Parts: sequence; C-alpha cells; structure tokens
Amino acid sequence: MIEKYEKIIGEDELYGLVKIAEKLKDFSILHVNSTRAGGGVAEILNRMVPLMRDLGLNVDWKVIRGDNEFFRVTKSFHNSLQNGYGELPPNAFETYEKWQEINASEIPLDYDIIMIHDPQPLGLIKFRKKGKWIFRCHIDISNPYAPVWEFLKKKIENYDSMIISTPAFARDDVSIPQFIIPPSIDPLSIKNQPIPEITVKRILYKYGIDTERPLVVQISRFDYAKDPIGVIKSFKLAKEHIDGLQLAYVGSPATDDPEGEEVYEKTVKEAGDDKDIHLLMLPPYSDLEINAFQTGASVVLQKSIKEGFGLTVSEAMWKKKVVIGGRTGGIPLQIIHGITGYLVDNIEGAAHYIIHTLKNPEISQKIGENAHDHVKNNFLITRHMREYMSVMLYVTG
Ligand code: UDP
Repeated sequence: MIEKYEKIIGEDELYGLVKIAEKLKDFSILHVNSTRAGGGVAEILNRMVPLMRDLGLNVDWKVIRGDNEFFRVTKSFHNSLQNGYGELPPNAFETYEKWQEINASEIPLDYDIIMIHDPQPLGLIKFRKKGKWIFRCHIDISNPYAPVWEFLKKKIENYDSMIISTPAFARDDVSIPQFIIPPSIDPLSIKNQPIPEITVKRILYKYGIDTERPLVVQISRFDYAKDPIGVIKSFKLAKEHIDGLQLAYVGSPATDDPEGEEVYEKTVKEAGDDKDIHLLMLPPYSDLEINAFQTGASVVLQKSIKEGFGLTVSEAMWKKKVVIGGRTGGIPLQIIHGITGYLVDNIEGAAHYIIHTLKNPEISQKIGENAHDHVKNNFLITRHMREYMSVMLYVTG
C-alpha cells in the first residue's frame, strides 16, 4: 500500500519514511481520540493508522466513549478554548474527570507511546501506566478561556511533548516541548483520488444540483466556527452578480459534536426558501460524495471564523479548486492570498472573491494549479507521518 505513494512523493521521500519507521518497529503505539467518524481528526486517523501498520509499526487506535453530558462538556471546552470565552455546563470539570476514569478502566494504556488527540481524552494521562505520552492538539489554543485552559494545562504539563498545527498556536506558558506539525490529506483516498466527470455529474444530479450552472461548495460540519450563516449571506450577495449561482453546504454528524442539529436548524432558517441553496446532511463515510462535490465545485468556500487547520481546504486545493478561506488558524498556512487561494475576513470579502473567481477563469485556473502544488509540497499524509514518527523517536530518546 505504502509503495503506491512513490509516484507522488518520489523514491527518496518514500525511502526516508521506511527508514524512520524501522527505528520504531519495537514500540507499541496507541492513538486515542473521541470519534471514529466526523471531523478532521477521525479523517486523518482512518487513513494514517493502516498506513503506519503497513510501514511495519505496531499501532492501535481507540476511541473514548461518553454520554451526551460528557460531549456537551467537551464541546463547551472546545468552543471556549477557541473563542476565548465561554459558558460551561454545571459540574463540567467533575463530568470530565468521571469519564476519564471510566475510559481509563476500559482502554488498555500499557503502550510504549500514546498519542492523545485533542482535549476530550487529555485527562487519561492521570492513569498513565508506562510509556511516553504526546498531546496532539488540533484546535486553536492561541486565545483560550482561562478557566478551561488552566484546568487542561495542568494535565498537559504531565505529557512528554505536545504537537500543534501552526506557530500561531504555540504557548509561552507550557513547559513541555512543543512541535509544529500541520495536518495533511491522503491523496490516494477515495475522498481525494481523481474521479470521472460522469461520476461527479451523477452524484451532484442525485442531490438536486444543476451541473450546467455554477456551484459554490462548502464542506463542513454544522458548527458555528465554520460560519454556515455567513456562507449563506456571502452566497446571497454573490448571487446578485452571477446568473444561476447555486450553493451546496455539505455536512455530516460527528458523535462528539452535540451542537450539529441546532446549528443545522438555524442554517435552514437563514437559507429561507431559496431553491438554489442545498443544505445536505450526509451520512458518515460519504467520501465519494464529498469528492464529487469538491471536484464539481466552481469555487470552494471555507468561511471559518475559527479553525484548527481545515482539512477541507487542502482537499479542495488538491483538486485544483480556488478556495476562499477565513483568515484564521491553520487556513493561512494553506492559502497564500492571491497565489494559492483567497483569504477573507467577512461576508462581503467572501462574496467579492466568489464573483472574482467566477468572472476570471484564467486567473482561477492558475491559482488552482498553484494550490495543488502547494498541497503536494506541504500537506500530504506522508510528510505528516514522517514528522509524527520523528516526535515519537524524540520522546523515546
Ligand atoms: N467531512 C466529511 N463529510 C462532511 C463534512 C466533513 O467527510 O459532511 C470531512 C471533510 O472532508 C474533512 C473533515 O471531515 O476531511 C473535516 O476536517 P476539517 O479539518 O476541515 O474540520 P473539523 O471538522 O475537524 O473541524
């Protein structure tokens, strides 16, 4: 399986990956996160764990469980860490600790290297039996809500190192080593492989899209941080200047995100009775459908207000799309304004660049090609695995 990447990354890069993996072959490695499907972390682990095994590593992946109350707490942590303020459910810290203990009693933690993804399972460190622990933080912690940050920071300090996605998230108040490793996409997954035009058309048609007319696409969970209301407002402004413009906002549920339904309902309300707005809630693992929407888009939005990285940005850039992204978190790593896409700060900016992209096809084609090259050089899963393995080697000394 791993050999297939040679045609994309070249022989030397692949050889480097195999050599570094050899050094880790005697270690048992565990990834822990909070959902098997939905969202970027699950997306990466679904691809990376089999590839790491193929490289000869002894890797497992476990998902913590919790009730609705627990995931309301962790979502409130997530929002308040990213927004800098927040409201926590009653007894939030007690609920959090209770579920760490339950999960620690169910998940074997006797691995040589444990990588904990995001704050939901962060507290498992209290139950460390052995091994080196790495906290892989995927979210924006540059301006966290102090009560939550202080609570989590005490736990982070017990880890051997921490990984963040962009230099903007680095913390002066954490004493463990911090590594900057942006996430990645898998160019050979069903979501990212080239697919025939007929497949794209069939899928878009099935979801009510007129494939003869221009289409704006945003792929995101229904989450305030992804600004679905702003997406609709931007689309409505742009539509006044582009005949026949359509919008598809495509989302799916994540078991660790209890807010999805509420945000979906608000988005439906904002869309009103505009027949050219398609709000779709697809089942998990709709990778071919997501591929079709990204491939079939005339322009792609990722109008996030807060974003850890935004895998959807690289996914669409890989497909040579012009992506208009919010200037936040890891998006500016991917979008170099005017070269690999456009960065925006508000609804008017997003509308402006939708119109600009659609009215200037030659510039858009060039930007699409630049975008693809930028992802190829920086945001592929092979680079990501190499850097994870380097940190694993570092912590094991
Ligand atoms: N995704 C999906 N179906 C959807 C919405 C999102 O498969 O309906 C995928 C998307 O293609 C990407 C991931 O979920 O791979 C979202 O990752 P991202 O980093 O963009 O955002 P997150 O959800 O982690 O905040």
